[in-house]
Amino acid sequence: MIVVLKHDPNRAQLDSLKAWLQEKGITIHESIGHSNTILGLVGDTSKLDIDLIAALDIVEAVKRVQEPYKNANRKFHPEDTVIDLGCTTIGGDELTIMAGPCSVETEEQVVAIAKAVKASGATMLRGGAFKPRTSPYSFQGLGERGLEILKVARQETGLPIVTELMDLSQLPLFKDVDVIQIGARNMQNFDLLKAVGHQDRPVMIKRGMSATYEEWLMSAEYVMSGGNENVILCERGIRTFESYTRNTLDLAAIPVMQRLTHLPIIIDPSHATGKSWLVEPLAMGAVATGCAGLQIEVHNDPAHALCDGPQSLRPEDFDPLAKKLLALHAAMKGLEG
Ligand code: PEP
Ligand code: MN
Repeated sequence: MIVVLKHDPNRAQLDSLKAWLQEKGITIHESIGHSNTILGLVGDTSKLDIDLIAALDIVEAVKRVQEPYKNANRKFHPEDTVIDLGCTTIGGDELTIMAGPCSVETEEQVVAIAKAVKASGATMLRGGAFKPRTSPYSFQGLGERGLEILKVARQETGLPIVTELMDLSQLPLFKDVDVIQIGARNMQNFDLLKAVGHQDRPVMIKRGMSATYEEWLMSAEYVMSGGNENVILCERGIRTFESYTRNTLDLAAIPVMQRLTHLPIIIDPSHATGKSWLVEPLAMGAVATGCAGLQIEVHNDPAHALCDGPQSLRPEDFDPLAKKLLALHAAMKGLEG
C-alpha cells in the first residue's frame, strides 16, 4: 500500500500514524520528495482500513498495490481449486451442469425433472426451497419440505443438490445439502457468509446484481477466511441500463476470475437473461469462454411454473442444449491438447 502525504504534514500526526502502522506489524519505507512525502507500507496490509487512512488530515491519497483478498487470490494459490462432491467435481476437467426448476414445487415435479436432466447430461440438480422473491405476495418456496423433496430426487437419481440458504436460522437444515447457494441478494450478507465459512459444505456465491469483481471476491474471502476453502463463484447477470433482458450477462467475468482467483466459475444464463430463448446462445458463449459450468433452470411446465417460468427450458429443449454444451466443452478440451 502506498500513502501519499500532503505537503508539510503535521509532525505529531505523522509520528502517530507511523507508530500505529508499526504496531500492526507494517514496515514503513519513507521517501521524502520535493513537494510530497510517500510512505510505502510493506507487510500484511489486508487488515488495514484504506478509507480510515485516506481520511486523515495529513494524507493526500492512498493506493493499494496488492489485492485485499488473500485466500481467494491466485497469486498465493496458483492451482485451480477442484471441489470434490464424491460423484462429480466442480472446477476439474468435467463441465458442471446444474439444472432444475427455479423452485421446488412438488416431489413428482422435481423427481421427474431430475431424471430428465440427468439423462441429458446434467451433473447436479438445482432447486430453490427457500426463495428470495421481489414481492412478498409471490410464492416463497416450500421451505424445509422443499429440502426433503430435493433429497428424495437425489436419492432417486444420484445427482448432488445445490439449493439456496437465505437466512442464518436455516443453516442447521442444510447439513446434508451438497452445495449451499448464497443468492445474489445475499452476496454481502456478511453474517451469513461468516456462518457458511464455519461449516464444511461447499458454498456457491452468486454475484450481487451491482457487485464489482473485488466485492464478489471479498465475499468469497469471508467464507474462506472462516476455514471453508470450497467456494464456487456464479455470475448470473448484473443490472445495467438495458431493460430488454432481465440482467446483462458479464462473460468477461470468466477470464477475469480465472486470472484473479483459483475458484471455479459457473454461469447462470437463466437469471442473466430472463428469457428461455436466450439461454442456449449465452450458455454456449459461456462454455466457449471457458467457464467451469452452468446453472440452468428447467421446468416440466414453464407456463405454469410458480417462479421464473419465462426463463425456464422444458426438459425436451434442455436435452439438445446439454448435448451441445458437452460437445463444445469436449472440443475446447481437445484444442487445449
Ligand atoms: C436462484 O438461483 O434461484 C436465484 C434466486 O438466483 P439469484 O440469486 O442469482 O437471483
Ligand atoms: Mn429463478
